[in-house]
Amino acid sequence: MYDEAEGSTRDEKINSMRRMQYKDPETRARINAQKRAAYAERNKRYGLAAGAGSRGPIADHDLPIKLDVLVDGADRRELLLKYEKMIADEPIENAIVITRDGEVYRCFGTKDGVYPDVDLGEKLIGADVTHNHPIGSGNEYSFSKLDLGLFDTYGLNSLRGIDDIFEYEINRNSSVIDELESVFDLDDKSARHSEVIDYARKHNLGYTRKRR
Ligand SMILES: [Zn+2]
Repeated sequence: MYDEAEGSTRDEKINSMRRMQYKDPETRARINAQKRAAYAERNKRYGLAAGAGSRGPIADHDLPIKLDVLVDGADRRELLLKYEKMIADEPIENAIVITRDGEVYRCFGTKDGVYPDVDLGEKLIGADVTHNHPIGSGNEYSFSKLDLGLFDTYGLNSLRGIDDIFEYEINRNSSVIDELESVFDLDDKSARHSEVIDYARKHNLGYTRKRR
């Protein structure tokens, strides 16, 4: 998926994130899961949230379960899509995570958020992730600011989202990106989509949205 040059740059970035992200800014000690949650709490950066207004304390939620392991040679994206079907129409937010090591987890959230960062910590770095935006959530028919923040903070390889109408994906392949919709096609589900196209362009990322 990446040529060697890009791959090594990416690994360097991930390694430097590993070093920076998980040292306590004051003590420089490695941050354990509890400290990391406290850090996230202070910085109000955690979880994948449908909509803009969902920053707040981490909601009570069920612990993640390990679903599967990606076997050598198996198609990562295919596996992600298979499990995405399982969560697409759930009434609360769920996330499926395939870690860089190929472990597959299902995380459980609430109607407006799911917290793979809190649940899985460092395992999330460089992972492929999908999640759903339930009907009745703050869904904006594309990725929320917190979604993009988590994609960036954890250096995700790809992040997908699915709601009752659309499925969308942001990833590291900047050659695949949607065009802005023509003014004649704009509707009440276009605003956030256009913003995410701008975000992807600025950050040299791939982004697409299509109807389910
Ligand atoms: Zn989301």
